[in-house]
Amino acid sequence: MMVSIHAAVGVSTSLLFYKKVDTEPNKIKPYITPLLLNVALHGMFDLIPHSHLIPAIPDIIIALLIPALLILFVKKKYLILILTCYLGSVLPDVLDLGVFRVLGFGAFRMFPWHFIGVYNFLNAIYTDQFINVLFDVLAVLVCFVLLFWKRKDVQLMLRGE
Ligand SMILES: [Zn+2]
Repeated sequence: MMVSIHAAVGVSTSLLFYKKVDTEPNKIKPYITPLLLNVALHGMFDLIPHSHLIPAIPDIIIALLIPALLILFVKKKYLILILTCYLGSVLPDVLDLGVFRVLGFGAFRMFPWHFIGVYNFLNAIYTDQFINVLFDVLAVLVCFVLLFWKRKDVQLMLRGE
C-alpha cells in the first residue's frame, strides 16, 4: 500500500491512545501498543488489495507532509504519541524499501508481508485495479470516519483548545 495511506492510518490511530498519555505522562508504556499496533496494521494493509496509484516520490512527499502539519497544529504533549503512531505505520517501508536498499541488502526484507514471494503472490491475485483502488479509498475513508467519530478528541488534541 502507498506509504501516505499507511501514514494517514497511523496518525488516525493516535485518537485511540491519547488519553493514556494524559493518565500516564512521562512513561514509555503508553507508546508501546500504538507502535506495535501500527506495524501490525501496516502488514494488514499491505496484505489486502491495494494500488500504487500515486508514484513513489509524491507518495513519500505526502507521507512526510502529514507529520510536518501535525507538528504545527497538535498540542505538544500529544506529539510523541502521534509521531510514534506515524513511525510504526511507516517503519516497515522505511526499513525494507528504503534503508536496506540504500545499504545494499538487495532483496532482503525484514517484514514477512514484504517478502518477494508474498509480494509476487499478492500481485498475481490482486489483478483488478478497480478493486485495488477501492480498498485504498476505503482505507482513507476509515481514517475520515475515525476523525469524524472522534472529532471532540481531535479538538482536544489540537492547539488552541
Ligand atoms: Zn509496506
